Amino acid sequence: MILPGAVIGVLGGGQLGRMFAIAARRMGYRVHTLSPDADTPTGQVADVEIIAAYEDLDAVRKFSAGVSVVTFEFENVPSATAEAAASHAPVRPSGSILHTTQHRLREKTFLSGAAFPLTPFLPVRSVEDLLHGLDRLGRPAVLKTADFGYDGKGQVLIGLTDDAAAAWRSIGSVEAVLEAFVDFEREISVVAARGIDGSFAHYGAIDNAHCNRILDVSVAPACVPREVADEAVEIARGVLEQLDVVGVLCVEFFLTRAGKLLINELAPRPHNSGHLTFDACVTSQFEQQLRAVCGLPLGSAELLRPAAMSNLLGDLWQGGEPDWAAVCAFPAAKLHLYGKLTPRPGRKMGHITALGHSPAVAEGIVRAARDASTACGAGAIMPSVVVRRIDE
Ligand code: AMP
Repeated sequence: MILPGAVIGVLGGGQLGRMFAIAARRMGYRVHTLSPDADTPTGQVADVEIIAAYEDLDAVRKFSAGVSVVTFEFENVPSATAEAAASHAPVRPSGSILHTTQHRLREKTFLSGAAFPLTPFLPVRSVEDLLHGLDRLGRPAVLKTADFGYDGKGQVLIGLTDDAAAAWRSIGSVEAVLEAFVDFEREISVVAARGIDGSFAHYGAIDNAHCNRILDVSVAPACVPREVADEAVEIARGVLEQLDVVGVLCVEFFLTRAGKLLINELAPRPHNSGHLTFDACVTSQFEQQLRAVCGLPLGSAELLRPAAMSNLLGDLWQGGEPDWAAVCAFPAAKLHLYGKLTPRPGRKMGHITALGHSPAVAEGIVRAARDASTACGAGAIMPSVVVRRIDE
């Protein structure tokens, strides 16, 4: 067991590492982070920030020699980086899990090989493959680059009349996956953790609403029948077991209108939809990652009250710095900002969470608090009025 006082290494410098570092420091651990950038969200709260390219394997080896375990908050680190890190300290989850999940085709091949339910897909390496795939899967369909995809990047929807060759060019004519378009009823996720001893903890099904293919609002517990939530958890359990995960992994699902669950994708780390666990659960997803990678017993994942989270994207900064005092005027809203200095459209800058008597109340608070943050938004909304209206 790696006990408090030890140093944990985090590859990556984003907000997931920041919240991990906050959880780790709260429990008396020290945190070193390595990423190519300076003054990162993780670096700002870590004990030591190392600035080096992921390809600088000497720097990665030196980094891992100074820590007791290496984990990551960014799954697109090259395999060679994970291998170099593993030369001096255990890497959890292992580099082989990164290798599988950082490439859509490898991930889907693993999932279908293990008989998990997922969206029908075909590999695409040429326009001919794409035309053949469209014949087999039908239109509309979604073409996604095999590498480095997240938040809807490297994706194009091919509609009934769209030109396949233009779609192929638009994603850079690189190796891709063609997926059948799923006319889903809703999207849900299950964030779960697995310990070194195979113990398992999960946060149940969380409802996710996307805007422009980026997560917008998450609500827990998800508004789905009990059997659906249970099935999603069992699928997630199977995925963590099959991959032999030590750490946290999120499974994102589509729930079809016929009530069938299909896996959309995996993230082998804490997930944006699990940010609400910070305030709503006995053990947050970040503390759970820490416990798992340190070989400690997992904590209770019990959801204390219904909760919701709204993302704060860089778009909110268009009219200047958002009005944080207006957000704080909602006494139940919790503001989380990641310390990023440059807001850009679509960039995740922070989020708001809230607990409520019901999922709808919590959702109403995080949406209203976010609306209040923009100058032209409902800065004058009285929080109590909003809550009352939603309560009714
Ligand atoms: P991804 O980056 O693959 O998670 O995609 C981002 C979002 O795009 C998803 O959360 C969905 O809202 C939408 N999306 C992706 N793939 C599909 C699909 N095959 N059918 C319908 N919507 C999709």
